[in-house]
Amino acid sequence: MNGLYLLIPILSGIVGAIFTSWLVQEYDNYGKKYSHFSDRFTKRSQCDFCQKKLKFYELMPIFSFILQGGKSRCCDKSLRKKYIVFEGLGALIFMVGALYSLINISILALLLIFLIFVDERYKEIALWNNLSLLFWVLHEVTYRFEFNEIMANLIGAVSVTLVLVFIYFFYRATRKREGIGIGDIILLFTTFLYFGVPLSLYLLIAASLSLIVKIIVTRKYKDEHAFGSWIAGFFLIFTVFQEFYEIVG
Ligand SMILES: [Zn+2]
Repeated sequence: MNGLYLLIPILSGIVGAIFTSWLVQEYDNYGKKYSHFSDRFTKRSQCDFCQKKLKFYELMPIFSFILQGGKSRCCDKSLRKKYIVFEGLGALIFMVGALYSLINISILALLLIFLIFVDERYKEIALWNNLSLLFWVLHEVTYRFEFNEIMANLIGAVSVTLVLVFIYFFYRATRKREGIGIGDIILLFTTFLYFGVPLSLYLLIAASLSLIVKIIVTRKYKDEHAFGSWIAGFFLIFTVFQEFYEIVG
C-alpha cells in the first residue's frame, strides 16, 4: 500500500481538528468585539480558567487533551469535554472526506454544523459563515454544473430572494418585528442556487415542517425560533444523500 494513502487522511484529520478547534472558539465568543483582528485567531492561546498564556504543546487539538489527561497544566482544572468531542468529530469528518476524495463536502459539513449551533443559541447567522457557504456553492456550481443549469438555478434563487425580501419588509412594517432574518434569506439564496427547483422547495418544506413540529412539541409558541439551522440541517442531509448516491450509483 502506498504510504501517501494513509498520510493524506491523517493530515486532513489534523487540519479538521484545528479548524474545529477554531470554530468552537468562535462559537463561545460569538459577537465579541476584538481589539485586533488577529485576536480572533489567538484567543484560545490562553487558559480558560487562569488566563495564563499556553505553550505551543498545550495548543494541539486532541493531542494536548490526551497528553495532559484532560487537565490544564497551569492550574490543574478539568478541561471542557466539548473541545475533545468536537475536535474529534471535525477530525473524523475530514478523514472520511479525504478517504472518499470528498474533502469539499467535509468543509461544507463543518460550516453547516457551526451555523446550526450558532443559530440555535444566538438566533443569528454569522455573515462570514453565510458568505463562506455562498462561495462554496459558487465554486461547486461553476465547477460541476452546465451553464444552462446554473442560469436556471440563479433565476430560481433570485425569484425566491425577491419574495423573501418582500415578506421581510412587509413583516417589519406591519408587525414591527422581523418575520424572517436577512441571514436566513442569504442562506436560502445559497440553497436555491445549489439545489435548484424543485429540490430546494422540498428542502424548504422539510425545514418549515420540522420547525413547526418542534414548536408544537416544545409548546414554545411565542418564543423566537431559529429557522436557518433547519435549512442548514436539511442542506447537509440532502448533500450527503446526493454524494452517497453518486458513490453507489
Ligand atoms: Zn490555567
